[in-house]
Amino acid sequence: MNVLDKIPGIVPESLNLNSKFKFKCHNKIKCFTKCCRGISITLTPYDIIRLKNSLKLTSHEFLALYTTPQILEKTDLPIVTLRLGDDELKSCPFVTDKGCIVYEDRPTTCRYYPLGVASLMYKEGVDEKGFYFFVNEPHCLGFEEEKEWTVETWRKDQGVDIHDLLNASWTDMIVHKRSFPPNIKFTDKTKQLFFMACYDIDKFREFVFESTFLDRYAIESEIIDKIKKDEIALSEFGIKWLKSILFKRKDADNFQLNEEDANLTNAGADKIQNKQS
Ligand code: SF4
Ligand code: SF4
Repeated sequence: MNVLDKIPGIVPESLNLNSKFKFKCHNKIKCFTKCCRGISITLTPYDIIRLKNSLKLTSHEFLALYTTPQILEKTDLPIVTLRLGDDELKSCPFVTDKGCIVYEDRPTTCRYYPLGVASLMYKEGVDEKGFYFFVNEPHCLGFEEEKEWTVETWRKDQGVDIHDLLNASWTDMIVHKRSFPPNIKFTDKTKQLFFMACYDIDKFREFVFESTFLDRYAIESEIIDKIKKDEIALSEFGIKWLKSILFKRKDADNFQLNEEDANLTNAGADKIQNKQS
């Protein structure tokens, strides 16, 4: 479970990569799929790319059909959560009696379960890894099984190590904003840009390639070629762009505007126009 989710009643018990636990989840267990109901699942940019491709949807269609936009407490930043069903149990839209229909592409939060991960405060230049905890829900009987894991072997088994790698830059940006004083807020326009670059990858592609974006920023041709072909690279590029224009982060690529007198400001991003308009 991601720290960004609001999970009432869960007290984090700090675990590290070597912490051991016994657990097994399988389709014969009495509680099978109970964990897929009444939950809050925050989706990362990488989760959305995997899910929309799995469902053969555009990012815009996926966001409209399966997610709820929210503002994350203490950051004032837009996030999206999986939209649960209207049934009494508030089921995940992808759960069936036979299990998860998007299992191969299930979100980071689902891969971690029954573990959660908490990210520590952002500190420039400090490598903070966060910590893990158990999501001890009473309906989950997997802890009664004998299979032993460490946090590290569980992460590898569930493929969440790859998700973490690709989620790291986005998580870091959210945690960074959380360290800002609460009175520092972004405009609605900036939040829309943030939402598009983070979550609506198809719209962000149009924004980059069909607006004056590439005329305004001096982007190397190899990077342009890469982000044209690879949507994960495009997503990483978008997050670097946000870090550069919103946070002036030194660890993000410096997005230099072509015009000498332009500053790297939100206004700079706002000036990008659709070429057709
Ligand atoms: S509740 Fe626990 S054991 Fe049961 S299906 Fe979910 S993760 Fe597996
Ligand atoms: S995405 Fe799959 S694993 Fe995650 S809650 Fe939904 S059905 Fe369960």
